[in-house]
Amino acid sequence: MSTERYSMHRGGRSYIFVGSDEPLIGETIGVMFERIARTYPDHEALVFVPRDERYTYAQLYKVSKKAAKSLMALGVKKGDRVAIWATNHPEWVIAQFATALIGAVLVTVNPAYRTHELEYGLKDAEVQSLILIPTFKSSNYVEMLNEVVPELATSEPGKLDSKTLPLLKNVILIGGTGEELGMFSPDQFMALGTSVDDDDFEKRRRELDFDDIINVQYTSGTTGMPKGASLTHYNILNNGYHVGETMRFSHRDRLCIPVPFYHCFGMVLSNLACVTHGATMVVPGEYFEPEKVLEAVEKERCTALHGVPTMFIAELALPNFSDYDLGSLRTGIMAGAPCPVEVMKRVNDEMNMKEVTIAYGQTETSPVITQTPYNGSLEMRTTTVGPPIPHTEVKIISPETGLIVPLGEQGELCCRGYQVMRGYYNKPEATAETIDEAGWIHTGDLAVMKEEGTFKITGRIKNMIIRGGENVYPREIEEFLFTNTKIQDAQVLGVPDKKYGEEICVWIKLNEGESSTEEEIKAFCKGKIAHYKIPKYIKFVDEFPMTVTGKIQKFKMRDIAIKELGLEEDDRVETA
Ligand code: AMP
Repeated sequence: MSTERYSMHRGGRSYIFVGSDEPLIGETIGVMFERIARTYPDHEALVFVPRDERYTYAQLYKVSKKAAKSLMALGVKKGDRVAIWATNHPEWVIAQFATALIGAVLVTVNPAYRTHELEYGLKDAEVQSLILIPTFKSSNYVEMLNEVVPELATSEPGKLDSKTLPLLKNVILIGGTGEELGMFSPDQFMALGTSVDDDDFEKRRRELDFDDIINVQYTSGTTGMPKGASLTHYNILNNGYHVGETMRFSHRDRLCIPVPFYHCFGMVLSNLACVTHGATMVVPGEYFEPEKVLEAVEKERCTALHGVPTMFIAELALPNFSDYDLGSLRTGIMAGAPCPVEVMKRVNDEMNMKEVTIAYGQTETSPVITQTPYNGSLEMRTTTVGPPIPHTEVKIISPETGLIVPLGEQGELCCRGYQVMRGYYNKPEATAETIDEAGWIHTGDLAVMKEEGTFKITGRIKNMIIRGGENVYPREIEEFLFTNTKIQDAQVLGVPDKKYGEEICVWIKLNEGESSTEEEIKAFCKGKIAHYKIPKYIKFVDEFPMTVTGKIQKFKMRDIAIKELGLEEDDRVETA
C-alpha cells in the first residue's frame, strides 16, 4: 500500500476515506471456511501446543461440521445463541466455526467472568446453549454454573429448566471427568450429529446470508453495564481478512496466538485473519504465559505474534529471553493500548518483528478501524495508530458541536464502514446513542488526525480504565459494589501503574454505623466478578470531592490517590 493513499483529506479537515482495489468479501464464514479447506486441505490449520494437537484444514473443517450437526441435533436454529465460556482450547475454534456453519450466534463469555457476570451475560443474550470448560487453575466453572442454575444437577442433559435462566436448555462440557451432572460430555455431544444428514446441513447453509448476525461480544461501550455488540459474518470476516492483508499474510504464515479467543483480538484478528488466508493458528496455551509464548514461537517457527503491549513487555522481561530463537518472526499486531517507544524498538530488533503493526479499534467495529502498514516508521508505530484500513472512513469531530475539526485538532474519533456492528443486542436506545443516523459510530476515544492521514489516540471521553489490556468500566464495578448492603456509595477510578498501565482504585462510603475492611471488600468481590476488576486500592471515606452542582470529581480523587499511594503520573504505560 502506498502512503499517498493515506493523504486523502481535503481542505485541512480531519476526515479521510481509504478505499481499496480489492472488493469486500460477500461470503458467509461457512462458505469462506469450506473454500479455504478445499484450497489447502493438507495444510496445517490449528496447532494446540500444550497437547501437540494438530488439525489440517480438511480435518478442522470436518470436525467443525460434525459439531455443527450436533448443535442442529440439539435443535439449534439459525439465529439461536450458543455461548462459550472457556479459555483458549482447540474446541473454542471448533465452536466458532461450527456455529458459523449453521448460522447460530456465538456469544463469547470472558473466562475471567464469575457468577454475577455469567448470569448477566447469559440472560442478556438470551442464551439457549452453553459450552464450557470444567475447570481452569483454581476456577471451577461447573461449580460456578451450578451456583447460577442449581437445577442443572438434577436435570437430564438438554432438558434444563431453570428459574434464573429459563431459556438455557443445553449445557455442553469440553473435557471433564464424565461425572458432571446435567450436561453433555464431549463424546455424547459429538455423537449427536450422526442423526443429522448432509442434506439437512446443506439446506441450513442455503438459508444463511453474510449480513446475518453471527457473534455477540460483551463490551461496555462508552458507558454503563456490559452490552452485547452484535456482529455479522460480513463485519468480522472482512475485518479479519484486511487485517491479515496489512500484515501481508499468506498460507505460509504461522501466527502465535496468546490473546484470548473470547475477545475480537483472538477470534477475529487472529483466527479469522489466519483462516481467510489459509495460514496456521498456533495456540501456545490456554492463557498467557510469556515463556510458553516464546517456546511456541521457536518450536513452531511462527512468522507472526499478537499481543497487547503488556504481553510483549512480559516476554521481553523474561530472564532467559535471549535463549529463544525468534528468527522466524516477521510481523504481528500490537493493539489495545499505546506501545511505549522502547518496547517497540526491542520488538523490532530483538524479537525480529520488523513488520509488526499497531491496530486500533473496538469490539463495536469488529474491531479494527486503523492499522499501521507493515513498513510504517518507528515514529508512526509509537505515536500513531496508523491510517484507516481499506474501505473505511474516519473523522474527528468536536464533542461540543459534532462538526469535523481542522487537521491537528483533538476531537472524538468516529468511523463508518463495513465493520460497524449491527447494534447492541436488544438495546436499540444504546445503539442509537453510539451509531448516528448517518451510520457513523462514535468511539468515545479522543484523537488527532495528522497530515499523513494517520491518527494519534490522545485520551478517552468515555469513562474507562484499561488494566493490562482489559477494559474495566467503573460503573459496572460500582453497580456490583452497591449490592453490598454495607456500602452507601462507591466511586471507582483508574490510577497509574507501572506493570498494568492502570490499576483500579475505589473510594467507599459506608452506611451509617457500618464498618468494613479492605480484605472484607475484596472477599466480597472474589468469585463474583473477574479478578482484574477487583480493586487493588480501597479507601474508606465520609465524602467525595464534589462540584457545586453535586457532580463527583473523579479527576480530583485521582490526583489525591496518586499522591497518597506514592504513584507517578508517568507510571502509566502510555505514549500518547
Ligand atoms: P475493546 O472494545 O475491548 O476492543 O476496547 C476498545 C478500546 O481500547 C478503544 O475504544 C480504545 O479506547 C482502546 N484501544 C484499542 N486499541 C488501542 C490502541 N492501539 N491504542 C490506544 N488505545 C486503544
